[in-house]
Amino acid sequence: MTVTKELAAQLRDAYASHSPEELLGALLSRFGSRIALASSLGLEDQVLTDMLMRIDRRARIFTIDTGRLFPESYQLIDRTNMHYGIRMEVYFPAHTAVEQYVAEHGINAFYDSVEKRRACCHARKLEPLRRALQTVDVWICGLRSQQSVTRPGIDVVEWDETNRLIKVNPLARWSEEQVWEYIHSTNTPYNKLHRRGFPSIGCQPCTRAVAEGEDIRSGRWWWESPEHKECGLHR
Ligand code: SF4
Repeated sequence: MTVTKELAAQLRDAYASHSPEELLGALLSRFGSRIALASSLGLEDQVLTDMLMRIDRRARIFTIDTGRLFPESYQLIDRTNMHYGIRMEVYFPAHTAVEQYVAEHGINAFYDSVEKRRACCHARKLEPLRRALQTVDVWICGLRSQQSVTRPGIDVVEWDETNRLIKVNPLARWSEEQVWEYIHSTNTPYNKLHRRGFPSIGCQPCTRAVAEGEDIRSGRWWWESPEHKECGLHR
């Protein structure tokens, strides 16, 4: 199916007042295996995983193993698979790109400059993401407007011009409290690091715990200024 900007706008208007579950149910029926959750294994993605699994166990969920994740994130993949009786799709970076990056710049070169950090994110995250996105017409994300200064005003349904796909953010308007309430009330598996001061979890070398009251994403790429703090996955 060819999806268009106009279709994204139609869907946005049609489902403006629907709950995340209603939206996901309608889109799953319509797009089947051409819609998937791109899970970063964060709290919001775990909420969406639970919602999707309650609707249809065949719903597609993929994640990206950058090779630099926390042990707790690998445990979460396993726990999630066991909880729902599924096998989440795991995409890996192209080994040649990572080998070339490491040979040229070094194993931890992302600390050296924004450019080198972005190049690492490109090789380890963006390339496998682009490959995964070639298998869908619609991708689901756990973005929330309140998450960061780089994510204001995101819509529930958007047109993703970079990938020429429809991007759906069912939790765009949710607060952090709503996310936790859902997690606890449904016994949804989540990353144990969230209980140890990590509100946002990415790769191990690029994520640290934050103090109470600090911005949710301030522990990601903490050595960079806030406006640089995206990896290019969400533009
Ligand atoms: Fe590389 Fe860090 Fe980006 Fe992970 S978050 S891909 S380790 S720069």
